[in-house]
Amino acid sequence: MKKTAICTLLAIMIVLLASCTESKSSRTVYVMDTVASFSLYPENEAAADEISSALNEISDELSPSDGKLFGLNNAGGGEMGKHTRRLLPISQRLYEETRGAFSPYLGSLIELWGIGSKNYVPGAEELLAARSSAKAENAGYTGGRVDLKNGVRLNFGAIAKGYATDVIKEILEKEKVPGAVISLGGNVYVHGTKPGGEAFNVAVRDPAGDENDWILSLPISGKFVISSGDYERYFKKDGKRYHHILDPETGHPAEADLTAVCVISDSGAKGDAYSTALYVMGREAALAFWRERADFELILIGRDRKVTITEGIWESFVPNDEKGYVYEVARR
Ligand code: AMP
Ligand code: MG
Repeated sequence: MKKTAICTLLAIMIVLLASCTESKSSRTVYVMDTVASFSLYPENEAAADEISSALNEISDELSPSDGKLFGLNNAGGGEMGKHTRRLLPISQRLYEETRGAFSPYLGSLIELWGIGSKNYVPGAEELLAARSSAKAENAGYTGGRVDLKNGVRLNFGAIAKGYATDVIKEILEKEKVPGAVISLGGNVYVHGTKPGGEAFNVAVRDPAGDENDWILSLPISGKFVISSGDYERYFKKDGKRYHHILDPETGHPAEADLTAVCVISDSGAKGDAYSTALYVMGREAALAFWRERADFELILIGRDRKVTITEGIWESFVPNDEKGYVYEVARR
């Protein structure tokens, strides 16, 4: 098989090079602790400005360390900002759907570990206290207000980037932009097609490699491609590796049989929450979850270097043969 792209971000750069004769508006901004880059075809500076300011606004509001959400968590609740007001009910629904594997109520646990910042391994008592506060029943909301009891802290780290791509999609539709590619820290949304009408190729990162290593690519149009994995953020202490996806049941990094989950769907927020939750669930439960639903596709990359691909994308993906992964199809 031929290399059709190199990695998610690089894939976008290749797209840009391939279409350098076309007019476009491209931007790179640092938001939500990550690099966001996007290109709109043809050039549309007004829409690009609108997208940049929406990304900054979402990042400012939802940052758990200094945003408005931080203030809300510290104050035990209050009037929610515009994005929190939209995102909390969506998150609650996805929390119920994933039976708590994705939870927006884990702020105290996430801050205790501080994976990627203070990198702390908590003791049993601290964990117990954080886990008992990190419960849905401690957070109530009505209208625009949220009430946070018993130390519960909201954290949208597993869904905010996906939600932001939903907001970008709304702007692209409103501005009637025919084609665009958005990458928010590796979470991709592809709007429409390339100027010639061809689909964009999106490459999925190899969790065992560095950020330029890709495992497979696939043609995408009008969909979100959202990945979660233990390679994104972690630290090592006393020979043990602690990654950033927590199992809400144990309060520890999830001991999954997967290294990465990639969800291809028609909603950014849903794809983002699912990718985190399905990583926590592991391969068998993730496939059972997929079989109960008809509206998304999955790529599950296992520790055993087996890659499970759901039937809706089985015919169209292109593997990177140099990587030595084994591929299997999952059918309904
Ligand atoms: P993602 O990269 O979308 O999988 O999100 C991971 C981030 O979400 C972590 O860095 C934490 O801030 C937060 N998080 C970790 N575990 C969970 C979980 N089980 N449910 C919701 N948020 C989580
Ligand atoms: Mg996620």
